[in-house]
Amino acid sequence: MISSIRLYFLGTGGSWPTPQRNTLSIGIRINDEAILFDCGESTQTSLMKSSLSLMKIKRIFITHFHGDHFLGLPGLIQTMSFYGRTDQLEIYGPIGASSVLGNLLSLGYYSLNFEIRIEELRGSGSVDFGEYSVAYAQANHTIPALSFSLVEKDYAKLEESKIKELKVPRRLLEKIRREGSALVDGRTIRIEDISGGVRKGRKVSYSGDTRRDANLLELFRNSTVLIHESTGERGNESKVISYGHSTGMDAALQARNSNSKKLVLVHFSPRYNDINPILEEARSVFSNVVAAEELMEMEVGIND
Ligand SMILES: [Zn+2]
Ligand SMILES: [Zn+2]
Repeated sequence: MISSIRLYFLGTGGSWPTPQRNTLSIGIRINDEAILFDCGESTQTSLMKSSLSLMKIKRIFITHFHGDHFLGLPGLIQTMSFYGRTDQLEIYGPIGASSVLGNLLSLGYYSLNFEIRIEELRGSGSVDFGEYSVAYAQANHTIPALSFSLVEKDYAKLEESKIKELKVPRRLLEKIRREGSALVDGRTIRIEDISGGVRKGRKVSYSGDTRRDANLLELFRNSTVLIHESTGERGNESKVISYGHSTGMDAALQARNSNSKKLVLVHFSPRYNDINPILEEARSVFSNVVAAEELMEMEVGIND
C-alpha cells in the first residue's frame, strides 16, 4: 500500500537555467522509492539540496529531447555510479529515446557498475509498476513529446467494524490487502470480508512542454495535482503557441476542463523576472493554483 506520495520541485524554469531557476525536473517519492519526471541540467545538485536521495531514484521519465528537459542525465548517472549504485536504472522517453540516450550515455570516459534500460513510449498507454502505473500520451509540441501521469491504484477501504467482528489481527491486514486473503486461526479471510467501498488512487500529472490540447484532457482527468507548463502569458499568446507552449491561462483551462484538484505552474520563460502576471491569469479561471518555487516540496495526501 502506498502511504506517502511527495513531490520535489528540483527545477522549475523553462528553456535555459538562470541564477533563480534550474531547468525542469520533478521528483516524486512513492513510499521508499522515487521517480523523476524530466532531468534538466542541474537536477543532481538540486537533489543534493533536497531531502530526496538520488540513490532512491528507480526510474526516470523524459518528456522530450529539448535540453532543458534531459541534459542533467549524464551527470546524474555518473554520480550514481560514484555513489556505488548497482541497481538497474530505467529510463523512459518518446520515440528516438534509444538513439539520443545511447549517444548521451557513451560520452566521455567512464564506466558504470549498473545497468540502464531504455524504453521508448509510442502513442499513448500505461506502464505498470505494481502499486502504481505511469500513463502517457503524446503532447502537442514542436518535436515528439510526451505528457505523463503517475496513477496510484485504487484500493479497498477497510471497515473497522468488520475487522473487529471477524477478529482479524492488525498485522495481517497488509497481507490481505496485498494477496487478497490470509488464514486467520484456520479461517480464510478475504479482502471482501473486511472492506467496504473503494478509495480512488491519487494521480499526479505532468504536461511537459505542450500547447493546450483537448487530446490531453483524458490523461489529466481527475488529477489530484496537475503540474503544467506556463511559459508565458496571454499578451504573448501567439509567440508562446508558435514555440509549442502554453500560457498561464491555457494551463488553468486544462486544469479546469480535466476536473483536476490542484494546479502547479512550472516552466516559466527566463525572460520573466516577475511571474505574477502568469499566475494571476491562471487564478482568474482556476483558484487552486500555485507557481512552483525551486526546491518546493508538496505532500499529496490521501484526502487531497
Ligand atoms: Zn522546455
Ligand atoms: Zn521543449
